[in-house]
Amino acid sequence: KPVIIPRDQHTVSRKQLSSAAVKTLYRLQDCGFDAYLIGGGVRDVLLGLSPKDFDISTNATPEDIKHVFGSQCQIIGRRFRLAHVRWGREVIEVATFRANHAEGDDQSARTNADGRILRDNVWGSIEEDAARRDFTINAIYYRIADFSLWDFAQGTADLKQRIIRLIGDPETRYREDPVRMLRAVRFAAKLDFTLAPATAKPIASLAYLLEEMSSHRLYDECQKLFGGGHAAPLLPLLQQYGLFAPLFPGPAAHPNEALWLHVARNTDARLAEGKHINAAFFFAALLWGDVNARAQHLIADGVPPVPAWQQAGMQSVSQQLARTAIPKHVSQVMRDIWEMQMRLESPRPRQVEAMAANERFRAAYDFLLMREHAGEATGKMAAWWTRWQQADPGLQAEMQRALV
Ligand code: ATP
Ligand code: MG
Repeated sequence: KPVIIPRDQHTVSRKQLSSAAVKTLYRLQDCGFDAYLIGGGVRDVLLGLSPKDFDISTNATPEDIKHVFGSQCQIIGRRFRLAHVRWGREVIEVATFRANHAEGDDQSARTNADGRILRDNVWGSIEEDAARRDFTINAIYYRIADFSLWDFAQGTADLKQRIIRLIGDPETRYREDPVRMLRAVRFAAKLDFTLAPATAKPIASLAYLLEEMSSHRLYDECQKLFGGGHAAPLLPLLQQYGLFAPLFPGPAAHPNEALWLHVARNTDARLAEGKHINAAFFFAALLWGDVNARAQHLIADGVPPVPAWQQAGMQSVSQQLARTAIPKHVSQVMRDIWEMQMRLESPRPRQVEAMAANERFRAAYDFLLMREHAGEATGKMAAWWTRWQQADPGLQAEMQRALV
């Protein structure tokens, strides 16, 4: 049974929600359905943060939702079917209340031998829906009918104590969906919360389950891990809980902590300023130590430096692809960044302008800067490129002549 918190005893109000979320809730209610805001949209508002997106939970089925919203609505997902309702550029996720998989037939729900949920489309009541959410702080429902909060798992108490706590038996919940281990540390880093002891305990021994997950889902999750604005506090947590090595075997064997931390801080700072980040940049940094080690190996075997670096980059990417399905357009940029490092470190005087005009120059130069700041031996060439870019043409020519 939920703890019900009436509207005058909590801080969530319609003003803090996106108008698209509010309109979606009202439209469902007007059509006779129960509609609740759930997850980060409620949690973050209660913490005084602004939610990244809004998720709605309802007793309407995907077909009902399609009927209510017509062409605004798209049904997505197989493993987890839900509706996307579009309002201009904003998309609201609307999911039907779900029950525990064990009660379902094989068509709508399935679990594999490890206990992993393969399909999760059995509809249920709001109580059942709450029980299968991941953390207590993510199971607080904001009810549009009377603006009350329905707290099914003592989530508001955990919010006050700043605790990430899995609902139910932790080991079972991690086996059902190993990505929950990553979500636990992601929320801990984002909110600066700690994991409840029982939630933390099984992670080290179950982290290997990530190795068998879909590499596409893990790539998506990596984007949330490193593109969520809290990569710097997250990296040590991933390592501490043993989640880093199963995701990044090459980088775990060839760590590059100083560079990672610089890049993580830089990424977080850019996001805080509302700037764009390049997914390739972070991955390029993570794999850099691995690429380096492979290149040295090949060079020691007699391969000339340029092809050695190219091969090392390809090998490192292909090993990483087995864990996280990095799309081709991203891995191409990573390899361009790596391949330009050597050329930026020892530019030929007459190539300088052409290199600076290269479409990858900015990313490659930023990468060189990060390496230099992290204490790598780069011949201080990042500083040279910084000065060169600020110089007038006369001084530029002089700097170039002085290179030889
Ligand atoms: P944010 O959007 O800020 O990353 P969120 O809590 O809204 O955080 P979503 O991924 O948007 O996270 O999911 C919305 C809600 O769906 C969660 O709050 C949680 O209740 C539930 N949920 C999401 N993923 C899982 C999962 N793997 N297992 C159980 N419940 C989940
Ligand atoms: Mg969300």
